Amino acid sequence: MSVQALSDITFDEQDANLFLVDDAQLRADALKHSVLPRLRVVMNVAIACIREIYGIEALEDSIVSVYPNFRQKRDRELLIKYESVFVGLGGQRKAKWPGFARKDGKPVQILPFRFAFVLDQYGVFTVLENAWLKGLDTRSFEMLLRFHIDNEHKVNPLCFASGMAPGIPYLEDLPLLAPLRDEYQLRLKHKLYDNHFLGHTYHFPVSGDTLEQIVNRFAYFFPVYDSYIQMAKGLPIRLDALVAKLSAWLERELEETEEQTELPVPETLGVHAARAAESKVRVMPAMRWQVFQRDQWRCVACGRSSHDGAILHVDHIIPRSRGGLDALENYQTLCDICNIGKSNKDATDLRNRKG
Ligand SMILES: [Zn+2]
Repeated sequence: MSVQALSDITFDEQDANLFLVDDAQLRADALKHSVLPRLRVVMNVAIACIREIYGIEALEDSIVSVYPNFRQKRDRELLIKYESVFVGLGGQRKAKWPGFARKDGKPVQILPFRFAFVLDQYGVFTVLENAWLKGLDTRSFEMLLRFHIDNEHKVNPLCFASGMAPGIPYLEDLPLLAPLRDEYQLRLKHKLYDNHFLGHTYHFPVSGDTLEQIVNRFAYFFPVYDSYIQMAKGLPIRLDALVAKLSAWLERELEETEEQTELPVPETLGVHAARAAESKVRVMPAMRWQVFQRDQWRCVACGRSSHDGAILHVDHIIPRSRGGLDALENYQTLCDICNIGKSNKDATDLRNRKG
């Protein structure tokens, strides 16, 4: 493992720019070699955070689910202009989910929910979605809705702590601002089985403390995802035990940061806006993408790429403080390790060195 941590990770306007670039191949390469590797680091930190708070190894039952996964035929994937990406937790793909049943009687191998970090042109947000509930029998769907009805008083505080809120579709006979219980009852009645939780949207740039906050809030909502997994396993939910662990952890954290009384200001709640018409305008790829593309998505010093676990950075060959220009020729691609080795005062063109 390399030195990757949240402090090495930033998402900025150049990432937003990527989703407006018309070159599908560049988009796909940038997602594969730069955006998804960074989101994976965020997910790894979240898994560590879940371990710390709950003592649970999330990957015992789940896999890290990535979209796009670039496993299909490459040519086909390159034609797709991806408008968002995610790295999330999803149930392992095995016939081991006896708690749910399929309409056709076959065992459930793929769970229809994902608990993920999503990145699009607006920023980073968190989502727990089971909007893909297809093929399960009615009893399975109802189990999920009844979980929310029966545990509303436990799930609501988790929503509050994590900034996750249910995405509620407009229903004609549901009064505005009705209690969630009514909402779920109505869904049962109308067989509306999707149940979509959205977190805050953190607008670009996103780094440092904000990324830590995103990870923490993700972990705060983990007990709901864990309940879904427990139901899928056909086991009793352990919501109470997990909430108790979360409370104890939060209390310890609060004690440790007692002097810091300033509370974070919640951002606008992330009901995700439809892609704005004006953003259909295509733009030039940002400098970062041009540099990476020219350097073939590899560190020019050591040759590492995302395949080797590298997080790619753009480096000024001649620093701006020494008159270096913001021009393509004055940039080079470095991995996280080589980038740390090169100080700001260093004007070495590492392309001259053999790794
Ligand atoms: Zn390197």
